[in-house]
Amino acid sequence: MIVSKKFVYLFSEGNGKMRELLGGKGANLAEMTNLGLPVPQGFTVTTEACTQYYADGGKINDEIQAEILKYITELEKISGKKFGDPKNPLLVSVRSGARASMPGMMDTILNLGLNEEVVESFAKLTNNPRFAYDSYRRFIQMYSDVVMEVGKKYFEELIDKMKEEKGVKLDTELDADDLKELAKQFKAEYKKAKGVEFPSDPVEQLMGAVKAVFRSWDNPRAIYYRRMNDIPSSWGTAVNVQAMVFGNMGDTSGTGVAFTRNPSTGEKKLYGEFLMNAQGEDVVAGVRTPQTIDQLAKIMPDAYNQFVKICGILENHYRDMQDMEFTIEDKKLYMLQTRNGKRTAAAALKIACDLVEEGMITKQEAVCMVDPKQLDALLHPQFDAAALKKAQPIGSALPASPGAACGRVVFTAEDATEWAKRGEKVVLCRLETSPEDIEGMHYSQGILTVRGGMTSHAAVVARGMGTCCVSGCGDIKMDEANKKFTLGGKTISEGDYISLDGSTGKIYGEAIPTVPASISGYFGTLMGWADEFRQLKVRTNADTPKDAKQAASFGAEGIGLCRTEHMFFDTDRIAAMREMIVSETEEQRRTALAKLLPMQRGDFEALYEAMGGYAVTIRFLDPPLHEFLPTAEDDIVALAGEMKMSVQALKDVIASLHEFNPMMGHRGCRLAVSYPEIAEMQTTAVIEAAINVKKKHSDWDIVPEIMIPLVGDIKELQYVKNVVTTTADAIIAKSGSSLHYKVGTMIEIPRAALTADEIAKEAEFFSFGTNDLTQMTFGFSRDDAGKFLEAYYAKKIYENDPFAKLDQIGVGKLVKMASDLGKQTRPDIKLGICGEHGGDPSTIEFCHKVGLTYVSCSPFRVPIARLAAAQAAIKYPR
Ligand code: ADP
Ligand code: MG
Ligand code: MG
Repeated sequence: MIVSKKFVYLFSEGNGKMRELLGGKGANLAEMTNLGLPVPQGFTVTTEACTQYYADGGKINDEIQAEILKYITELEKISGKKFGDPKNPLLVSVRSGARASMPGMMDTILNLGLNEEVVESFAKLTNNPRFAYDSYRRFIQMYSDVVMEVGKKYFEELIDKMKEEKGVKLDTELDADDLKELAKQFKAEYKKAKGVEFPSDPVEQLMGAVKAVFRSWDNPRAIYYRRMNDIPSSWGTAVNVQAMVFGNMGDTSGTGVAFTRNPSTGEKKLYGEFLMNAQGEDVVAGVRTPQTIDQLAKIMPDAYNQFVKICGILENHYRDMQDMEFTIEDKKLYMLQTRNGKRTAAAALKIACDLVEEGMITKQEAVCMVDPKQLDALLHPQFDAAALKKAQPIGSALPASPGAACGRVVFTAEDATEWAKRGEKVVLCRLETSPEDIEGMHYSQGILTVRGGMTSHAAVVARGMGTCCVSGCGDIKMDEANKKFTLGGKTISEGDYISLDGSTGKIYGEAIPTVPASISGYFGTLMGWADEFRQLKVRTNADTPKDAKQAASFGAEGIGLCRTEHMFFDTDRIAAMREMIVSETEEQRRTALAKLLPMQRGDFEALYEAMGGYAVTIRFLDPPLHEFLPTAEDDIVALAGEMKMSVQALKDVIASLHEFNPMMGHRGCRLAVSYPEIAEMQTTAVIEAAINVKKKHSDWDIVPEIMIPLVGDIKELQYVKNVVTTTADAIIAKSGSSLHYKVGTMIEIPRAALTADEIAKEAEFFSFGTNDLTQMTFGFSRDDAGKFLEAYYAKKIYENDPFAKLDQIGVGKLVKMASDLGKQTRPDIKLGICGEHGGDPSTIEFCHKVGLTYVSCSPFRVPIARLAAAQAAIKYPR
């Protein structure tokens, strides 16, 4: 028997737990309805209907259409109004709502159900023709915008033209006839673009709108947002159809947005904005400057008091800071949305700690409440206080998203992307931002806008990204066409440096140096809790004492990967390295290696010192040697002189080192197999450095971990390990020290993963080098993937870059298998990951589940990894 699926739910049939099916907005509208709050009633078309729409090739099938119509009838009964009835019209909003909130990603249509006939009688019924035609033009505008996919600006231009003709500044100054005329113009645009009349039948309008919302799930902005936020495209979006309430009915009406706590700082105080005689997104669009929420207390005390009460109810109910949208229709308050509010990293930490203090949530809940990726914003440099004091601001505006930004000015999102991709730090300056700008915003150090309040698009998106933003700087005289602006008497052109302070809103017409961040206050408290719960250790990838110190200050418990070759790129060292590479005899090579030994030993001593006794894993020489070879003529001549050989002879040697596919060529442990004297030198440096540092710090238990890269066969490892142990044991014996050391390997070749039980006989630890493992499992290189990944995203073959987020299905299977095989042979084997993935929260969760000992990531990701590891442990106790 086929049980037909239910695709539509009244708000009163749903609840807050049904977010997968009803989307976040729909589930919360249902939950608020259940709580008895004043919510205009309506129904939700499920995310499954969206999936079905795509399965049906972009069609809403008959079954779903019929169900929607049935629910329109239900809504007519509930509201006592009728769809398309001029005498008593039911008007609705059509609102998208995915499971995870995607702010500004998809568009809302208001006042649906109006047509020429209905609007005319609506004007008479309400005795307010201006209001009726304002609603009508908004409907046509939003509907056309969504259906034609032309962007908000398109119709705004017609409005601006009308205002200019009328000699007025605000849209509220346009009268009923002006708005009627605008409606006519909008419809003409629609006809021009679509080749058909604007639909007048409300049912046709409704189906068109639902379809447009479904389709918008797959627009480029939405796809980009999903990729940035790990949202799978299979989820789909729900559609909410809701009876309209009107904030644009006159001076006793209005609309607004508010947070129960300050989303920038976390302060426990109602925070928000509203606009009188306005509808929908007027507040966030920056059409007029909104008033702050406490001013509502004076204008409409009853509605305000009721609102404050509801805020308390919602916060207690959801046990988290709420972000709410409301409308007041002729003094009566309606709730249109609530959700857990987006917040800055600093606010997230304060709110999490405060809620524990207030007894509202547990420490575990607090730890799970903060998005690890968001911490990034706090880990990056802040302005140098002294330099900041000296700098003179050229202006200031709203501190919309905190942080320090310094970069060169660009005026379009496209330029921001392009400049940033070639390595420039940029600050994006716009009149206002729109969802089309999202990619460019992502690439910017900071965002500066001329229009818009604290809840404008730029502000909301920037806070979500942890990017500094200063908004609403009306003093700026913007000249977008010529890519320059004037502020505080200073003209700033494209490419000039400016600095933004997102915490104070100050704007500086110069570059201000920045200083590193530290972990303290609420940040420290929350990290302390995270450490109580996590089971994974967190190490860092560090090649220099500076990186190691930075990581240690962020809580790293050792070095998981030290790439020895990175130490040889310095100008004073590269010569000796080159000499080693082009050596033709062992004797020549040993001469060069003897020059490298003291440098390497010194580096290791500094690293052990920086890590204060924590484990340090040192990987032996790994990369293809050609990376070090001289290419410039004078470098070659100098090297030839140093080596007492002819320039031509050296050139021949260099040519002979050419490889067709260096990433799969003479590198990794193959170097040590060909030239064991390299491994001898590195072992000597590692062991002597450890003995020297131990002498100074007798209480430190230094156990160097020597890691052999790119092993694919146990015999390779056996060979190199033998070189290592012979060398190390002789040094230790001679020194009379009791030093212990470990020898392990990277697992980065699929063959090593497949034979991990064998490999573990020799290896005392495994470290998954998931960069190479990904590369070799997929069969494409990280450096070239950029050329075709975009096409793969567009064609939905991949949703993410497998080099950024571990492919848990394929590469992850190798990791799991190798871990299990390794443990079979050696139950106490240490397992770690040291690829780029080690700092990615979803990969960290995976590592926890697989049972690794530690993750190792770049210094700035250490706190992120600590938090992600704690969340994984809380979610999946092992
Ligand atoms: P977004 O997800 O972009 O916030 P919404 O679906 O929340 O989009 O709609 C945006 C705004 O439209 C709301 O904040 C509200 O002001 C207005 N709106 C939506 N539905 C209604 C309604 N039924 N009555 C009045 N205003 C509405
Ligand atoms: Mg919106
Ligand atoms: Mg909303």
